[in-house]
Amino acid sequence: MKHKEIIAGAAAGALLFLVLQGVDILPMVFIIGLIGMLFYFNFAKQPNNGANFASANRNICTISFDDIGGQEVAKNELCEALEFMKDNEQLKLLGIRPLKGILLNGPPGTGKTLLAKAAAQFTNSVFLSVSGSEFVEMYVGVGAQRVRRLFEQAKKTAKYLKKSSAVIFIDEIEVLGGARGQNNGHQEHDQTLNELLVQMDGISAVEEIKILIIGATNRVDMLDSALLRPGRFDRLVKVDLPDKKGRMHILRLHVRNKPLASDVSIDALAKDTFGFSGAQLESVANEAAILAMRENSDKIDSNHFRSAIEKVMMGEKLDRLPSKEEKHRITVHESGHALIGELRIPGSVASVNVASRSNALGYVRQTQEDDMYLYTYDYMKSRISVALAGVLAEELIFGNRSTGGSGDFKHASDMAKQIIYNGMSELGIISAEDIPKDQLHSAIMKILKKVENDTRELLMNHKIDLMRIAELLQDKETISGEELRIGLNN
Ligand code: ADP
Repeated sequence: MKHKEIIAGAAAGALLFLVLQGVDILPMVFIIGLIGMLFYFNFAKQPNNGANFASANRNICTISFDDIGGQEVAKNELCEALEFMKDNEQLKLLGIRPLKGILLNGPPGTGKTLLAKAAAQFTNSVFLSVSGSEFVEMYVGVGAQRVRRLFEQAKKTAKYLKKSSAVIFIDEIEVLGGARGQNNGHQEHDQTLNELLVQMDGISAVEEIKILIIGATNRVDMLDSALLRPGRFDRLVKVDLPDKKGRMHILRLHVRNKPLASDVSIDALAKDTFGFSGAQLESVANEAAILAMRENSDKIDSNHFRSAIEKVMMGEKLDRLPSKEEKHRITVHESGHALIGELRIPGSVASVNVASRSNALGYVRQTQEDDMYLYTYDYMKSRISVALAGVLAEELIFGNRSTGGSGDFKHASDMAKQIIYNGMSELGIISAEDIPKDQLHSAIMKILKKVENDTRELLMNHKIDLMRIAELLQDKETISGEELRIGLNN
């Protein structure tokens, strides 16, 4: 800062001297202004982290590994790698090269940022976080300059806060670290990536401040191979969507400060949220609390959670109301899905809804007892049957179909493709890439036609049940799986 003030003072003095000498300084002022603007917009802009020491305390993390649910494998791998960082003397003694980079790979919202913060807390390091996109610039050299500054900033902040190490977290690292020579304007991109490689190569065990880079991505395949070489990001930690046990752990963490009614079962919630990320589970807990508040309830009950799950899955409820005829059709359509869902996979329907939300006019939510990672031929056919049952129910009751089934058809034909690609169709074991398009098409059609006919017959045999569910839904808009099963057994 001091340097800048001295330079500004000297420049102002020089200009004043020239004015007194009778020199026309206007063109000079114009050029200086132009250079100043360029500097401000490009070089002065830097990743907004640790930029000023007044706010340096935000570079200290309070999140620990105990605040992260599930992800046991990722946590163990990360801790093992971090133990290295803690014992610097031993490192030097044995001549071990320090760990420079850890790459966290997984879908959004699974806790990668949390893991990086916990890593900083675990190693008593300062934490700086940037996103790969903050380095994308048009002008050659700007991104590289920002990388240099980031490393300098990390060291300065650590020194200022009297820490001996810093964790730099780079989210969406594929934007900055994508393969070289492929991007538009690739000269700038390549220079930025080269600078990151140079900075990482410069990290050594004898440095006063140790730096660890933690990158997060969902696209390891896009990264330049130089980044994955030993001595750079040489630890790859997979951060997957949580399994049922993980979901229970995450839910427990996010309801620990919330009053729950006695009918809430974390086990049942975890079962109902297969495929949810940690961020979505956090959102479910928060939305359930908001719903309870709206109802002036001092406890959050299972209905609040059920609505919250549906909101996170299907979006906000819409004010837009379909006409009476449309509503009737939607009700019959969803009743078709629900009836066949319950007949094909008993006990699987969690709820049936005909309240319009941003992602659907109505929907049936199905769950399974345990997380499933392998599907049999019969199971896949059952799912196709459930997907086709909506339009087939419309056909049975109204004598025609509507456009409401396009999403279902896509889903059904995707599943038929899975049957074919996994060698479970009449084509036998095939290579997905080599199969001719027309052959694939006719194999899909054959599967769909057979399931369609079976489902139509099943619906006809249960027409009374179908109408009973539709009646129930027409009155209530939403029914739970339990209510559906009671209705069917009466
Ligand atoms: P990512 O970096 O993988 O996109 P984040 O770490 O930013 O995900 O997670 C976003 C939010 O989701 C967190 O602030 C937290 O509330 C919640 N969350 C995600 N994963 C977990 C987890 N494993 N345990 C607890 N909360 C989680």
